[in-house]
Amino acid sequence: MSDVIKLLPSHIANQIAAGEVVQRPASVVKELIENSIDAGATKIELVAKDGGKTLVQVVDNGCGMSDTDARMSFERHATSKIANADDLFKLQTKGFRGEALASIAAIAHVQLKTKLHEAELGTEIVNEGSDVVSQEAVMCPNGTSIAVKNLFFNVPARRNFLGKNTTEYRKVLDEFLRVALVHPEIEFKFHHDNEEIYNLPKSNRRQRIVHLFGNAYNQRLVPVNEETDIVKISGYVTKPEYSKSKPDQCFLFVNNRFFKDRYLNHAISSAYEGLIPSGKYPPYFIYFEVPTKSIDVNVHPTKTEIKFEENQAIYAFLRSAIKQALGQFNVAPTIDFEQENSFNTPKLGKNETVQIPEIKVNPDYNPFKSTKSSGTGVTGNTKTTGFSQIKPQKEDWENFYGEAKTEELKKDQHNELTFSSSIDEQEVSAGVEQKKPFQIKQKYILSAVKNGFILIDQYRAHMRVLYDELIKEDQQPQVQKLLFETRMPIEDVDRTIWNELLEPINNLGFEVVLDKGELIISGQPVMAGDQNPVTLLEGILEAYKISEQDDSVEIKTKLAVSLASGMAIKGGTVLTTEEMEHLIDALFASTSPQYSPRGKKIIETFTLEEIVKRFN
Ligand code: ADP
Ligand code: MG
Repeated sequence: MSDVIKLLPSHIANQIAAGEVVQRPASVVKELIENSIDAGATKIELVAKDGGKTLVQVVDNGCGMSDTDARMSFERHATSKIANADDLFKLQTKGFRGEALASIAAIAHVQLKTKLHEAELGTEIVNEGSDVVSQEAVMCPNGTSIAVKNLFFNVPARRNFLGKNTTEYRKVLDEFLRVALVHPEIEFKFHHDNEEIYNLPKSNRRQRIVHLFGNAYNQRLVPVNEETDIVKISGYVTKPEYSKSKPDQCFLFVNNRFFKDRYLNHAISSAYEGLIPSGKYPPYFIYFEVPTKSIDVNVHPTKTEIKFEENQAIYAFLRSAIKQALGQFNVAPTIDFEQENSFNTPKLGKNETVQIPEIKVNPDYNPFKSTKSSGTGVTGNTKTTGFSQIKPQKEDWENFYGEAKTEELKKDQHNELTFSSSIDEQEVSAGVEQKKPFQIKQKYILSAVKNGFILIDQYRAHMRVLYDELIKEDQQPQVQKLLFETRMPIEDVDRTIWNELLEPINNLGFEVVLDKGELIISGQPVMAGDQNPVTLLEGILEAYKISEQDDSVEIKTKLAVSLASGMAIKGGTVLTTEEMEHLIDALFASTSPQYSPRGKKIIETFTLEEIVKRFN
């Protein structure tokens, strides 16, 4: 038999290689924009048609190419970015394999125009399926423009495999977001089907996020920062209440490259545990910086998975950085706790006007740093509400209340108000002088704070307090023995569930054993007061069944949430002033006063500034 092995002609080799690099229009977008960034561009414009199937064009003001380089750039393994293997380990550029342009040219019509800054003329090359159709000198702006038309024109099987225009557009957009988020220093424009999608000025990360996702994000973002020997973590997470039902705004980057990592996603969701319901995803934008040698650089060109050497440590750092960020943020964000005197307006002269005080946020302030409640020691009257078990240390948040706690209520406030168009002193100080909290509709507690007032949802607040007590790691909730043992019949179908739940329930302060078809209950958490244990346990079972499918939340957490919700005082319960004060104290000593364990808002803040505005 004669020899059968032949070398593949290069255009076929390129087509095969293209299959790896170019799956869809979005891959072209990624490769072209990355090349522009590597070329040092400060302005990049993306134009796409029909989800990129008909056209993907990227125009940059980067360094451009000489006419020889322009020709070379379409050759496989042609790259200006590495010269030898050692370079691989100090890569600063996004590309290095020299495959992208060759691959793209193999399966599309490509028009390249490029000009070096110092050159008078540029070069235009037209390429169709790896064949150079023409090359000539042309007048063109500095930088490079590459238009990729009719993707897969010569590979119908792949063309047919593409999704609808809207699907491909969505992927193009994702790719655009991923690079725009890591390069706020670059100006980006994006047009699709003749419509301007984005026009992004040079900015910083925070502004870039806001430009991409909307002004509302400015209020939602919580900065995250952590620096250790092995990793630097920065970026933003969002407040729990703005979680979404899809994880489509969850971005992880390492050394300015987007990547996916389920393990690290889990670190983030676990930092939100108890703050958001399961099935919700907080948007996040997390940037890792690690030494290039500690990740595998020789990744597949389109691969978004990256392996860290120190995966576990990074998990722990990330989780704690986010927990800390959320914790610091949690108390009444629009009020500056440490700004003393801001509303102690002095008596004014006749023609002086009052300056509206500035309200600032101090991002470093951590209201929780020393407010761990000191055990469940029950003293005196244990009311059903269980408030008296929490003994917060007040120093940290009492600034928040300021004079509201100490000053006497001015009884004749109304008589003293004068008709005046400017803000007068009475109005400014009125908010801080109401001393006691009071209830609205037996559902909300209104409490004056130094710079305004807050409304607290009493049910959610109490749920937060109870939940924290239940979930404490160092000790179990105290048990109170029931006067009479209670028997609770259970259904056969639920028996296996009860078997599984028995231990965690007992860890939450119950004393329950399973005896054939019955639960025998001899004790329940002190916190539950005189509530009916059977009702509480039924509630736990129901809640557990509903959340059973969700493996991301620990069983103890699930049970604690449902137990806390069962035990918490409901709307419609009248509270004494003392009980309200207890509840507020306990709430502010909790791990997360702003949000209930189900991620619902507990406190709404009304600043003096907002109040003043309403009277304008
Ligand atoms: P790689 O980026 O891996 O080097 P590519 O095939 O993407 O390979 O590009 C090949 C070469 O073409 C690059 O190394 C670079 O020298 C040049 N090049 C590609 N795009 C541009 C651009 N927009 N501006 C300047 N040079 C470019
Ligand atoms: Mg490249």
